[in-house]
Amino acid sequence: MSKVIVSKDKCKQCGYCVKHCPKQAISFSADFNSSGFKYAVVDDSKCIACGMCYTTCPDGVFEITE
Ligand code: SF4
Ligand code: SF4
Repeated sequence: MSKVIVSKDKCKQCGYCVKHCPKQAISFSADFNSSGFKYAVVDDSKCIACGMCYTTCPDGVFEITE
């Protein structure tokens, strides 16, 4: 199971999470969500489940599972 669940349709591509992830585990998708934004994608092999993205995202995109 993924360490972080991403609600991709809530993402507005602001980039705060990409900037603040200490492991550079977040990038933007190649495709678009239902609002027309490229959305945050987490590389599970880099993620340490620190919760920084959860704290940083103004739109409640992330949920930490462990
Ligand atoms: S939980 Fe931490 S390491 Fe994982 S994607 Fe979010 S900010 Fe990055
Ligand atoms: S902080 Fe939230 S809204 Fe902004 S790019 Fe990251 S997931 Fe998307």
